[in-house]
Amino acid sequence: MNGPAPEARLDGLPEPSERLPESLVVPVDSRHQRIAIRHRDQHCTSHGCDWPAAMCHVHHNTPWSRGGNTNLADARLLCPRHHTYAHNPKYQMKTIPNGRVIFSRT
Ligand SMILES: [Zn+2]
Repeated sequence: MNGPAPEARLDGLPEPSERLPESLVVPVDSRHQRIAIRHRDQHCTSHGCDWPAAMCHVHHNTPWSRGGNTNLADARLLCPRHHTYAHNPKYQMKTIPNGRVIFSRT
């Protein structure tokens, strides 16, 4: 016998043969990543801005369109105003030694 028939499973999971290979499963979902980033950054990461984490967006330092990944190392919190700057080609975002960023007009 190879286990219960699919209709007999009580956990709602697909049969092992129908699941994605473990190598293709992302280890944390985006909700957990947002929680971790909020815990790490605590507030907007723009120098001099203290907007609280709950009001910030998660910004990808390297955009998906340029091969960026969704992971903690490539993400930071930015408030709505600074997130707009980050995506505005009129502004350049530069990381400073303490890990925060500054914006300057190009
Ligand atoms: Zn900000």
